[in-house]
Amino acid sequence: MTANLLGFDLDGLAAFCERLGEKRFRAVQLLRWMHQHGESRFDQMSDLARSLREKLPGLCEVRALPVLAQQESADGTIKWLFDVGDGNAVETVFIPEEGRGTLCISSQAGCAVGCRFCSTGAQGFSRNLSTAEIVAQLWFAEHFLRRHLGHQERGLSERVISNVVLMGMGEPLQNYAALLPALRLMLDDHGYGLSRRRVTVSTSGVVPMIERLAADCPVALAVSLHAPTDALRDELVPLNRKYPIAELLDACLAYLPRAPRDFITFEYCMLDGVNDQDLHAEQLIALLQGHRGQGVPCKVNLIPFNPFPASGLRCSSRARVLSFAQRLNAAGLVTTVRKTRGDDIDAACGQLAGEVLDRTGVSERREQQAALANPQPVIWRKPPEKVS
Ligand code: SAH
Ligand code: SF4
Repeated sequence: MTANLLGFDLDGLAAFCERLGEKRFRAVQLLRWMHQHGESRFDQMSDLARSLREKLPGLCEVRALPVLAQQESADGTIKWLFDVGDGNAVETVFIPEEGRGTLCISSQAGCAVGCRFCSTGAQGFSRNLSTAEIVAQLWFAEHFLRRHLGHQERGLSERVISNVVLMGMGEPLQNYAALLPALRLMLDDHGYGLSRRRVTVSTSGVVPMIERLAADCPVALAVSLHAPTDALRDELVPLNRKYPIAELLDACLAYLPRAPRDFITFEYCMLDGVNDQDLHAEQLIALLQGHRGQGVPCKVNLIPFNPFPASGLRCSSRARVLSFAQRLNAAGLVTTVRKTRGDDIDAACGQLAGEVLDRTGVSERREQQAALANPQPVIWRKPPEKVS
């Protein structure tokens, strides 16, 4: 297969051009055509030298991912299912809001971390996405949306996607080599020109890679915490057994001096009777305000759990979520509750399963799903109600 130019950041494309005997500015031109104009046909790239335009088609292409499905929610959220081959598919979600458009993209087909409350995790790990496959989600969505919203007809060249979050399928920091050029391209003025604070990597806590990200490309960081103690987090986020909470918070503290914002976002999925009690709120406050005697500057984002049958878990009641948030806020931890968007098209967090049903690999998945139908109980259980 010929090289896919969507898989290069500026330095990568400059090296590719150099191998063809072309100067670095050709890479700048190519990037701008692809990512700013959405152009995939070399013969349309009018300022490239004719000889280069003729040479490129035999050597490389701008290869989009096939779209298997597209669903639009009543609230404007759009979800795409992209085919990444061998029976695997990944999902991408566009969330329009007042004054901004956020694209939630995937980094892996499936996920090896296997969090108890996540349907991507329940699916198991298939493979890492390539840089081109990560970028292709943004490339397609941005240029599709410009056409869809009529920007091109109206001669508008402004971007539709103002924010990118790596919160789709997969653990981005377990696919670091492919992630890094994709991030660089998002930030590059010749690419998508997004500021570092508008690109967020969400991680379940791959500590060494948080350190690498701080050095290589410190974008905004969201950490999926979900529990205030190691005993509970070990059960909910199995990666915690390798990188326990204290190490994770140390990595957050070390990240902050390079971060584009002066806080870390902690995500906390609200699971009925599992991590949502007053005691957990108190433990969380003590943890985040007391770590190493200084605390971690942060915001907490409570995510209402999106149930899926095999999880055996339920979402906390609205009243419980609000009371948990109120307790944290009262203690001085800035806490928000995530709005669920695109519910009618299963586009909310944790519902991105991305299975292609009539393809190979499905029977294996079914077995995994069957195993999950009888999930192991989590360690912490709701104590019996007090009888007064
Ligand atoms: N692997 C990364 C990013 C993808 S998951 C991570 O774990 O951070 C993005 C967010 O969705 C994470 O905070 C994750 O914990 C949350 N999530 C996963 N499953 C969920 C579910 N069923 N309901 C609500 N949030 C969920
Ligand atoms: Fe993987 Fe994130 Fe899902 Fe955990 S929550 S299984 S890390 S995608």
